[in-house]
Amino acid sequence: MKVLVASALILVGSCATLRHSEKIEQLKESISYDNKSVVEKYLNTITTDELKLYVEEVSSEKYNGRMTGEEGHNEVCNYIRRYYDSLGIKPPKTHPDYFQKVPKSVLPDELNDSQNVIAYIEGSEFPDEYIYITAHSDHEGVKEGEIYPGADDNGSGTAAVFEMAEAFKKAVEDGNGPKRSIVFLHVTGEEVGLHGSRYYTNNPIFPIEDTVSTLNIDMIGRVDSRHKDNEDYVYVIGADRISTELHFVVQEANYNFVNLELDYEFNAENDHNRYYYRSDHYNFATKGIPVVFFFNGEHEDYTKPTDTADKINYPLLAKRTKLIFATAWYLANAPERLKPEII
Ligand SMILES: [Zn+2]
Repeated sequence: MKVLVASALILVGSCATLRHSEKIEQLKESISYDNKSVVEKYLNTITTDELKLYVEEVSSEKYNGRMTGEEGHNEVCNYIRRYYDSLGIKPPKTHPDYFQKVPKSVLPDELNDSQNVIAYIEGSEFPDEYIYITAHSDHEGVKEGEIYPGADDNGSGTAAVFEMAEAFKKAVEDGNGPKRSIVFLHVTGEEVGLHGSRYYTNNPIFPIEDTVSTLNIDMIGRVDSRHKDNEDYVYVIGADRISTELHFVVQEANYNFVNLELDYEFNAENDHNRYYYRSDHYNFATKGIPVVFFFNGEHEDYTKPTDTADKINYPLLAKRTKLIFATAWYLANAPERLKPEII
């Protein structure tokens, strides 16, 4: 009797496992790029020279470390909106100056009003479905007379979003624009507690239920101590928490276009660093939106006045930006909207 029960259990277990693995295989097979050469054409517009220009600008001393609510940060937000305006990428109709005010009432005590900067490209087939590409624009300001330039944190992310926006805009001009809408969102108040993204997700400009996915970038221009011998990597965090499909979309994008090592070390539920909870994607995740966070890990200049533009690894920043662009491209053009379900 005992033996019989045990074998019945094993049978049930193996059937369940088989069905699961079949589902995963089906899912993986369903994710593919129809026309790789078209994607590559726009990937090639992402260049180290332009990324360098943007990182240098954002981290330059004139912005005084971009503290939320201070003049330097307001100025960098002006620079960001001028960038989109110059490319002809529009603001949301409800926010014609590209700014969503984030009032001081939702910010820590001593800070002034601030703003998120938002631009978007309307999708050609499913304009009411939105893919977000996000990066925080603020940093730590000036402390004890020293400017914190935040070239990696998050000049690298800001530059990456710029380059992706330009690539999508070129695709639009060629008649290859995204089928779904792409929102370029530069949030404020990250360093002081993820406030800009929290405010945005509580006061969304486009409906939360129409949000397909959020790709968040916070520090992708450097190499951490775990990867001194293999710098071609990026940490991928959170992609499988809400959508198994998103996890495999990132892998397919990587396999087809860049071949970085996708490091899932910090994706573990019990990771003591808790990075999943520590950048802006998390506020989207709390609304049930599939998110993925791209990150290079901490390094010796993290949150120090020495996080400068000359230390950024620009070829690597370009590769990581291409991975995120290829992921966004798939999500924007896939025949069906990404499913927020765990398999
Ligand atoms: Zn950051």
